[in-house]
Amino acid sequence: MLGLMQNMPLTISSLIRHADRNHGDTEIVSRETGGGLHRYTYHDAHRRSRQLARALIALGVRPSDRVASLAWNNHRHFELYYGVSGMGAILNTINPRLFPEQIGYIINHAEDGLVFFDLTFLPLVEGLAAHCKGVRSWVALTDRARMPESKLPLLCYEDLVNAHSDDYEWPLFDENTASSLCYTSGTTGNPKGALYSHRSTVLHAYGSCLPDALNLSARDTVLPVVPLFHVNAWGLPYACALTGARLVMPGPQLDGASLHELFEQEEVTVSAGVPTIWLGLLQYLKEKQLRLSTVKRLVIGGSAAPPALIRAFDEDFGITVLHAWGMTEMSPLGTVNTPKGKHLKLPAAELDRMRLNQGRPIYGVEMKIVDDSGKELPRDGKAFGDLLVRGPWIASGYYKGEGGDILREGGWFATGDVATLDADGYMQITDRSKDVIKSGGEWISSIELENLAVAHPAVAEAAVIGVAHPKWDERPLLIVVKKKDAEVSREQLLDFMRDKVAKWWLPDDVVFVDSLPHTATGKLLKTRLREDFREHQLPG
Ligand code: AMP
Repeated sequence: MLGLMQNMPLTISSLIRHADRNHGDTEIVSRETGGGLHRYTYHDAHRRSRQLARALIALGVRPSDRVASLAWNNHRHFELYYGVSGMGAILNTINPRLFPEQIGYIINHAEDGLVFFDLTFLPLVEGLAAHCKGVRSWVALTDRARMPESKLPLLCYEDLVNAHSDDYEWPLFDENTASSLCYTSGTTGNPKGALYSHRSTVLHAYGSCLPDALNLSARDTVLPVVPLFHVNAWGLPYACALTGARLVMPGPQLDGASLHELFEQEEVTVSAGVPTIWLGLLQYLKEKQLRLSTVKRLVIGGSAAPPALIRAFDEDFGITVLHAWGMTEMSPLGTVNTPKGKHLKLPAAELDRMRLNQGRPIYGVEMKIVDDSGKELPRDGKAFGDLLVRGPWIASGYYKGEGGDILREGGWFATGDVATLDADGYMQITDRSKDVIKSGGEWISSIELENLAVAHPAVAEAAVIGVAHPKWDERPLLIVVKKKDAEVSREQLLDFMRDKVAKWWLPDDVVFVDSLPHTATGKLLKTRLREDFREHQLPG
């Protein structure tokens, strides 16, 4: 017998309609690409998204067509999220920090018919056009007055939107219809597309707002530092509309001073981004002796949040850090670190230690760890193995079948992460499976050593990689960027780490560098480091 409940499809357009009807006067603020702040409301954004949908139809975009964006976090990019997906087409948000060849590959692979771009990316777009013959129009996200000179016949976003009325009803269709497409920026091979659906996006938005996840509400002002071109800004543009949270978007200016100004002026309560951003902001705040007077929660994810960072925000600034883990193939949220009631009575030192792991799964995400033969390992917080996940917002395959059948028996997706799980569901990433250091048949966690190193007051950033060793296969090498005007020697650093890890985990050597290479999404680029230090001679 089937239930007798209405079968309303979960569509992305229903989010912005809800925000308009119930939070119509709530503000969306964005820093424009050319400077200055733009302010309007959910009501305005809904109206313009419908005008945009009409404009897309007039440009020949049909359901399931791919439309690309190369843009910062701003109100026009937000409108693309709703206008494109809402009318049934697929928004392919592209990371402009990728190499131009990779961007060209993505546009061609996705068969994007239109590309909407911020003016910052005009030179990029002009270089790409000759290689992307399938693109019918390049649309500059600006108004007529700011339209640039170009050798390309560009369209103007504001002209398109203003030429159409908002008299448009969002279509209803199967909730499993594809809505957006994000390519993973893997460190090897061509990028692969994670293709989200309306259903997966709405369910992910529901899940991410839960009190033990990001805990969002209509009382929050949310500033996503995480780009709208990186896994849909962790779903925040959807979650904010769902809850009616006020939204502040920082545009291209992500330095400490610009962020601090926006946080204070707009009274931001929640923000989200990768550790690199927060390390930069923290340094700025300390240097200038500034506070973040309204921020309550910072979501840190995308790579392991160093304990020193979590503690600094908590202890020095009174801000709760929500350490979150996920990946492009997971929309992206998988786990968030929040304590349970029973933990609140723990001694401070133990509670502090608990806060450092990647947290427990949001309902909707199932996890297990397995050994090399696929056998499930115990949830005892000690055994570590390959982390597998499944759930309604986790990829079942890549766009156009790249990579073949990616699921294991039972529908499990292998994350490529190595982790422990405990009986309370808390997960701790030990490493990426490719980055773990294999020394004498045992595994050493590069992340744990990096966290230890950055806890030293003179260390700004650290990476640990395995370097070939005749006897042990691989031994850890610590590569360090020192803080400005700070001094520390190889011996001092190793001494600092010595009593905090097993003896055989201690790096064999330390190298000081000016900067570390990062991927386009801000992760340490360890493939490059392994190449650069392949010939490194370990002492002894
Ligand atoms: P991406 O798909 O580019 O978002 O990358 C996903 C990968 O980033 C994950 O599989 C992890 O290896 C890493 N990652 C994300 N969040 C965390 C975290 N909180 N701690 C450690 N690694 C993380």
